[in-house]
Amino acid sequence: MSNAKSYQLFINGKWRAGGSGATLPVINPATEMVFASVASATIPDLDEALASAERSRKTWSLRPAKDRGEILVAAAKILAAKVAVAARDLSAEQGKTIAEATGEYARAVETLEWNGTHAEELSAPSPMGPNRMIVPEALGVVAAFTPWNYPAVLIARKLAPALAAGCPVILKGAEETPSAAVHFVEALQEAGIPDGVVNLVFGVPVQISRHLLSSPIVKVLTFTGSTEVGKQLAKLAASNLQRCILELGGHSPVVVCGDADLATAIPAISDYKFECAGQSCNAPSRILVARPLYGQFLSRMAEAARTIRIGPPDDPATEMGPMANARRIEAMERLVQDAVERGATVETGGTRLDQPGFYWPPTILTGVPKDARVLHDEPFGPILTVAPFDTIEEAIEEANATDYGLAAYFFTGADDTKRALIGGLSAGALSVNYLKGVSADAPYGGVKQSGYGYEGGEQGVRSFQSLKLVNGFGS
Ligand code: NAD
Repeated sequence: MSNAKSYQLFINGKWRAGGSGATLPVINPATEMVFASVASATIPDLDEALASAERSRKTWSLRPAKDRGEILVAAAKILAAKVAVAARDLSAEQGKTIAEATGEYARAVETLEWNGTHAEELSAPSPMGPNRMIVPEALGVVAAFTPWNYPAVLIARKLAPALAAGCPVILKGAEETPSAAVHFVEALQEAGIPDGVVNLVFGVPVQISRHLLSSPIVKVLTFTGSTEVGKQLAKLAASNLQRCILELGGHSPVVVCGDADLATAIPAISDYKFECAGQSCNAPSRILVARPLYGQFLSRMAEAARTIRIGPPDDPATEMGPMANARRIEAMERLVQDAVERGATVETGGTRLDQPGFYWPPTILTGVPKDARVLHDEPFGPILTVAPFDTIEEAIEEANATDYGLAAYFFTGADDTKRALIGGLSAGALSVNYLKGVSADAPYGGVKQSGYGYEGGEQGVRSFQSLKLVNGFGS
């Protein structure tokens, strides 16, 4: 461990260890070995972060939005110049391939740029007729909690709009993937973010969230993670009425209609599903196929899944790396075992690879009974179920038969079918004839148990603002 990296906290403009000197190990999921450590914050560290964020609040919110935007655009350039190093660090601690990590950083850079470029326009008062106007104002200190699956882009989607809106942030980065938060905050520091405006902590998640959300200094909670944890945090936030933006789990369907072009649909599903070893909240997890196409779809989809090259994430030939941690492997084992016990068939995959590292192969299940856990719990891994349907009404009913409502996808060329699916599917976002996730310029948020509030685009910035209505302005 002597040459191992050790990641620190960033409080009031200074990098430092936690007050107790305690650290947490960072594990490489491809080897299962500890290769770095991250500082763990104490309660006095959190109090210092709260105090420094609060001290910076007024000056940051009153600073011209154009200046704030320029700092974000400068940070985007600095981060872009560090991508090669940052992507290697991310790949080593998360398990995604270098290409995936590089792509993720490109999206983080784009998100910083978008919010920086639009900061002035989205902070400007807007007239409502001759006599009234709306004045957007920064809500105040933000507590941001980000997960380990897409740590770079998910930090960008929270911090960039909060900072553009004029809010200071206390970020709790994911302890399992600390480098993304550190590279991101370093870029902001180098770009000239004032002391206290961004604070970075790591530690025991439940302690940190409880302490930060019990403080009246914090005005906004933004979290990406599981529905279960999101609900716990929303309860904590209720005591101070902190505004919540909750981006929670998903269990996304793909409806492959009878006229779908399988040569398009199969690679699109395979690429999007198995990116980041399926650990994406909007990855498809349940495929519903029009019965006449079912047999052909299944054999071609299984073939596509079988031919994905699994291996070390830093090998350029690798198409899918390991899962991020041992908890995901255990979850895959539980879901497959439960489905098989209830009568499902494993078409491909289904067991952990017999080698070091958290490797789980692309897995396809068929004949899955409706009460199997895999049709209800978010798989968050490289497992797909495939089932036939007879009518569009039946497909919509099946597609909506989970508590989640984050994303849904479908393949058809027929306009009336498109309209039926757009109206019928319960999801925050749909993609037609391809699979797409979040982008910097558009709002994205779930319905049902997938959360509430929006990240991305104008709404992403509005999440961190109050809208002050001024009547009689011209009188
Ligand atoms: P988890 O729910 O314990 O943790 C998810 C994330 O939330 C982690 O980064 C964790 O550090 C953080 N977290 C946990 N408890 C917290 C708390 N009390 N306060 C603040 N942050 C807290 O589960 P996990 O095993 O790390 O991940 C597995 C599940 O999490 C998956 O099944 C998936 O549903 C969900 N998840 C979703 C996303 C997403 O993009 N929506 C991302 C990561 C994980």
